[in-house]
Amino acid sequence: MGFIIILVEKRKKLYEGKAKVVYETEDPNKVILLFKDSASAFDGVKRADVEGKGVINNTISSILFEILEREGVKTHYIEKISDREMLVWKAERFPVEVVVRNVATGSIVRRLGVREGTEFSPPLVEFFMKSDELHDPPVCEAHIVLLKLAPPEAVSLMKETAVKVNGILSGIFAKAGIKLVDFKLEFGKLPDGSVAVVDEITPDSMRLWDMKTGERLDKDRFRFDLGELMEGYKEVLKRLSGS
Ligand code: 5GP
Repeated sequence: MGFIIILVEKRKKLYEGKAKVVYETEDPNKVILLFKDSASAFDGVKRADVEGKGVINNTISSILFEILEREGVKTHYIEKISDREMLVWKAERFPVEVVVRNVATGSIVRRLGVREGTEFSPPLVEFFMKSDELHDPPVCEAHIVLLKLAPPEAVSLMKETAVKVNGILSGIFAKAGIKLVDFKLEFGKLPDGSVAVVDEITPDSMRLWDMKTGERLDKDRFRFDLGELMEGYKEVLKRLSGS
């Protein structure tokens, strides 16, 4: 009687977040990001499993990282290795969120009373400290240096890069009939010492409005029950692929 040898690849999990899992690889300088099928909002208070979300977010993020790399923006992206996995450079992530806004909506309306829909030209760049306990408070450049959230020399680089990314992505989405309203970027230091865009760039971390109808195509669908999440994300991918 024959026997079957089952080879199980054991990859060590380095970290598991709300939307992604990070696995180590044989190369200590590279890790794998696996995009999960889970959606969460309001500091994880609202959660749901959304079938197919991981696959579509990995695809959208890969397309956008490839565009940014082509345009000379340094990112952690290496390649898409499966439907829901991406190979990236291992990064020392800065606990900072960099938000770029072209139109006022979301937290800036609540925090500062800016009128919903106000256009920002030039775009507004804001920093937030990544902290679940403190609910990601807004911070200024002096706070980032004081709290050592990122190296001082990285602060202006993050801001300039975020504005450059905004220009590139606004153009890409405009061609697809989509307004890039705002988005969040994260940065980190790669093994070669350079500062790069890390994490993901997906409709989970951007606001995308249909230019004609104003329909929300991003995670606000889930946050505020505006429609089926995957319908919006699929529309974004379809239009990105076609443009
Ligand atoms: P707001 O500050 O209005 O809540 O968000 C501004 C933009 O940054 C939105 O596109 C939002 O999706 C994104 N953003 C802000 N905080 C987070 C976060 O913790 N996670 C993700 N994925 N996106 C965020």
